[in-house]
Amino acid sequence: MLKAEKEQQAVAGPLTQMGVFDHEQVVFCNDNATGLKSIIAIHNTTLGPALGGTRMWAYANEGEALTDVLRLSRGMTYKAAVAGLNLGGGKAVIIGDSRKDKSEALMRRFGKFVDSLGGKYITAEDVGIGTRDMEYVRMETKHVTGIPPALGGSGDPSPVTAFGVYMGMKAAAKERWGNDSLNGKKVVVQGVGNVGSHLVDHLVKEGAKVSICDIFEDRIALVSKKHSSVEVVDGNKLFDLDMDIYAPCALGATVNDESLAKLKASVICGAANNQLADEKLHGRIVMEKGIIYAPDFVVNAGGLINVYSEVAGFGTDYAMKLAENIYSTTASIFAMSKQENIPTYAAANKTAENRIAAVAAIRTKR
Ligand code: NAD
Repeated sequence: MLKAEKEQQAVAGPLTQMGVFDHEQVVFCNDNATGLKSIIAIHNTTLGPALGGTRMWAYANEGEALTDVLRLSRGMTYKAAVAGLNLGGGKAVIIGDSRKDKSEALMRRFGKFVDSLGGKYITAEDVGIGTRDMEYVRMETKHVTGIPPALGGSGDPSPVTAFGVYMGMKAAAKERWGNDSLNGKKVVVQGVGNVGSHLVDHLVKEGAKVSICDIFEDRIALVSKKHSSVEVVDGNKLFDLDMDIYAPCALGATVNDESLAKLKASVICGAANNQLADEKLHGRIVMEKGIIYAPDFVVNAGGLINVYSEVAGFGTDYAMKLAENIYSTTASIFAMSKQENIPTYAAANKTAENRIAAVAAIRTKR
């Protein structure tokens, strides 16, 4: 074997394991002047430009950053596809501590990096990145969303996300109880931050019996003051509670061996990303237990719909209208899951893949 071939194999091994060759394009930026170390991963652009936020995180090493950006960008392809948007999946990471390493120059250099892809990738905010940062990015590229309303952006996505989760929950209730009313249903909302608090508004309005928990007192106080009927529960004892619906709106991986051993809910539907600790394993267990799991990336797509409005040029009213479709999308995923005897997350993945394949097929026709 030639030396060059050997070297190629040595690189291709780990990169293949990371799933690099599942992606259309992965680009790196290393800029000594500003200290920017960033990776943009474009997973799939069959449906449209790859849109996904930028995460700034103090990754332990470059490999960890690469793994994260590959995984997250792939997730965006599926989320956009199942939401019916003309968007592909992409994501960016910046390696660094967002509290210490950020500067105007660094964010503007990142904007130039985004711009170098000519609109194939459109950025937005994610963990560690705020609207102010996006303003700097916008000085160097027009391929950016999630900018403040004062600058013509779509603003806080949480109300649209919460409405979409509410729609998904109603579809799940219909699947479980034959009626989509949440009136009288015991719903436990874990995490009453931006999305959770808006979700509580919808639930209370519909007459659900809502319990909440959060690690921050001020969040609890805000919601309790607004809704006297809401019960506050101890987050540590959440899975001992009697409930109809569990709504995870804080962190991922809360649907795991431990919680499933105790969980009394018949429906799981919330805003948090990556709720299943192990998608294959826990997706299957949930199904076997007869729990209706509304896939997270299907019901929390409202945030993406909201930023998409900046690309497609529509307002909040239409974003809400699109988020309303989450009801029928979720219902069709439940139907596929039943028909094919597959977990709901797998039905959601298949729905996304089918749409991408169908659109790819018409592209080849004249
Ligand atoms: P947020 O930070 O405003 O709210 C999360 C809340 O959860 C906070 O109040 C926090 O104190 C609380 N929390 C953290 N750990 C907890 C725990 N162990 N128990 C109980 N509460 C806990 O975030 P958000 O914007 O409301 O998003 C909530 C979730 O939804 C996140 O997982 C996010 O990734 C996902 N999501 C949000 C959007 C959006 O539009 N904001 C869109 C899609 C997905």
